Amino acid sequence: MDQNNNVAQIKEALDIVQVVGSYVELKQTGKNFSGKCPFHQEKTPSFIVSPDLQRYKCFGCGASGDIFNFVQNIESLDFPETLEKLAKMAGIEIKQFEGNSTFKSLEEINYLATQYYYNELKKDPQASKYIEERGFTKESIKSFGIGYAPRKPQLLKFLNRHAKYNTQLLLNSGLFVEKEKVVKEKFYDRIMFPIRSKRGKVIGFTGRIMPGNNWGPKYMNTPETPIFHKKDNLFGQYESRQEIRKSDIAIVCEGSTDVISAHQHGVKNIVAPLGTSLTREQLEVIRSLTNNVFFFFDSDTAGKAALVRAFKLASELKMNPYAANASPYKDIDEMLQKEHDKFVKLTEERMEAFSFILKDFLLDKDLNRLNNIEEIRKVADSLLESVKDPVTKNHYIERLSSIAKIQYQEEKTNKNETLKKLDKQKQFPVKTKAYDIEERYICLLLLVSPITVSSILDKKYLSEGLSRRIVTLLESQETDITKDLLAELINKDSSIKDKYEELIFNADKFIADKMSLQEQLDFCIKRLKGTYLENRQKEIKVKIAMAEEIGDNEASEKLLLELLKINKILKELT
Ligand SMILES: [Zn+2]
Repeated sequence: MDQNNNVAQIKEALDIVQVVGSYVELKQTGKNFSGKCPFHQEKTPSFIVSPDLQRYKCFGCGASGDIFNFVQNIESLDFPETLEKLAKMAGIEIKQFEGNSTFKSLEEINYLATQYYYNELKKDPQASKYIEERGFTKESIKSFGIGYAPRKPQLLKFLNRHAKYNTQLLLNSGLFVEKEKVVKEKFYDRIMFPIRSKRGKVIGFTGRIMPGNNWGPKYMNTPETPIFHKKDNLFGQYESRQEIRKSDIAIVCEGSTDVISAHQHGVKNIVAPLGTSLTREQLEVIRSLTNNVFFFFDSDTAGKAALVRAFKLASELKMNPYAANASPYKDIDEMLQKEHDKFVKLTEERMEAFSFILKDFLLDKDLNRLNNIEEIRKVADSLLESVKDPVTKNHYIERLSSIAKIQYQEEKTNKNETLKKLDKQKQFPVKTKAYDIEERYICLLLLVSPITVSSILDKKYLSEGLSRRIVTLLESQETDITKDLLAELINKDSSIKDKYEELIFNADKFIADKMSLQEQLDFCIKRLKGTYLENRQKEIKVKIAMAEEIGDNEASEKLLLELLKINKILKELT
């Protein structure tokens, strides 16, 4: 069970450039290495490997991670297999594979448990009757391996007939609990749905309570175990994988029973998270099969919130999110039973999740009222914020205008610029991000060493939350600002860590510039101050005009003085 130890040891022994380099042709570019991304089709390289961070990142598709993520994804392995493969590469002793035999035993226990529960279902008339009433067919029972954990389960006895598993292993399987030093079974009087890994191995279960049993929650999952991590797995990921690939879209619904009943109705490109909200890792599982994801959540408040979250995650991963809900029905299951055609129509029409969310939000709004417009703008802004792909973003902005008849002036004027930027990026072999001046400032601030106090701008010059937080943290330190301080900052705020990581991946862009880092930094400071002052100028001019309008000479004179002061500072700046 020294899994963490093994991971650390392997990371110590292997270099990411070497590991990735055995799959991808890498070229050194400054501090980093770059090559064509193995996770998406591309002609020019946007895949960067940083030896400093021992991580990779693709600026085309967003794939990123360490050697474990890389090997796991490129070889389509599960974690234990990845561990085994990398341990071999690293030449780490056989002794280290004890952990791996634990994984094998845990898979074996889950496999045997599936058999046991499956046979118990056949034996129990009440459970069989319930399954039938719920509409599950014999075919589903077989293909999903649906079973039943009896009221007085004998799984332990069943396992003992095959092998002697030690107590720790049994507890690690998540199928047993220890109460007053006695090993007891976790699941009883529940319909058992096996959860399979991407490769089809049973790694856990979802147990649905039988009617009349009021012990525990309605649905109970295997807890986290060495082979089962809820956040990395989806119900149906194995059973639906081929159809997802074939149809090039994955439907994400709320629960495992929805997945099974959809399969029965011929809809086989469907998965569900395991009792928690959808995670980024789960979306990455889908992304390895298709870029298109169709969210089909409940129409209640929780479902709506889940959809917004899912939209943001998918957009950050540059996937294409679509959405619908089962309204007026309770869930997919009911809709498929009562109005199968409607479901088919919804999936064929594929409304974009962005439009779906906004339309839903607009249902009870009167757009002739100003605060309603403000509200929709807020909702749209928060959605647009997570859209990483500029072309998609502009597409959404156009959608927004047509849905809400709102003109997004600012973004519209920026559109040409965005497109120009895109063109420009195409000319570079490595598509690094185009930074705006404020981001450049923060990047440079964190890259220069030492950071001088005069380089730390006052917050008023900065608009973005993160930049403001960074300068506040820097300000709060006393003198002697060094790289060590940065480590400290990173500890204090994990969003700074993400930013810093991004910078390291882009560091070459700054280092390669003709100007020194400090010169570039000074340039950014000037620009930021300039922009701030120009805006102040405009504000004051408006105020002066207003003051003159109402004949308030005293105020207008005061404002005029301030304006002159600003003009002077601006002149000195340029
Ligand atoms: Zn990529």
